Amino acid sequence: MVKKTTQLYEGKAKKVYATDEKGVYIVSYKDDATAFNGLKKGSIEGKGAINNRVSNHLMALLEKEGIPTHFIETLNDRETAVKAVQIVPLEVIVRNIAAGSLSKRLGLDEGVKLETTVLEFCYKRDDLGDPMVNEYHIKALGLASEDEIKTISDYSFKINTYLSAYLLDLGIELVDFKLEFGRTEDGNIILADEISPDTCRFWDSKTKMKLDKDRFRRDLGGVEDAYKEILKRLMGAE
Ligand code: UDP
Repeated sequence: MVKKTTQLYEGKAKKVYATDEKGVYIVSYKDDATAFNGLKKGSIEGKGAINNRVSNHLMALLEKEGIPTHFIETLNDRETAVKAVQIVPLEVIVRNIAAGSLSKRLGLDEGVKLETTVLEFCYKRDDLGDPMVNEYHIKALGLASEDEIKTISDYSFKINTYLSAYLLDLGIELVDFKLEFGRTEDGNIILADEISPDTCRFWDSKTKMKLDKDRFRRDLGGVEDAYKEILKRLMGAE
């Protein structure tokens, strides 16, 4: 089995390690939680293990749908072997229903269905508060090429269509979510990072109860139970 060598990076929710296999990294999910660009800090018991399973489950499904992802194999509770990539420094946000920063910015009540899916790009720069950028900024700063932007956008819409339908079957509304993409050594764009209750807004489709990190961000209580509920619905359907 692939073995960790040196730690390459420690982020807010994950650590990334180099390994003894070329082109393979190991991601280790932490229970640490942060919000508001690191201003709010805490820990969600069991989160690392849940996000590891949820993300791997969804990436494996997406892979079958023809979306290339970094997922290789689950190693243990909180660790996964992934394809080594250089992360494109963009947070790609896909929105179906108004919530969070979109509601604030455009004066829309949370829960209003958007007439079409909205795609946003934010420049991954914590020191600048991850500012929103458009395709001109992305090209002007050399963050991604025109072709890469097109590939990333196409994959993002396809992921949204597939996941929205899959989750709705499990009684979950996919309100919005954040994706990150990476470049492999041979220059291909693949889906990286994670897809989990940390990075998606999941609402119960009947009650509209929030089953995601907003419970932590907004001190709504029941954080651990919400993460467990998502895992249960996803794995129960296997
Ligand atoms: N999101 C994320 N990481 C970020 C910012 C946003 O995973 O650094 C996700 C968030 O969980 C939500 C979506 O992207 O599902 C849209 O977030 P929004 O822009 O509304 O920001 P927020 O209200 O979370 O600050």
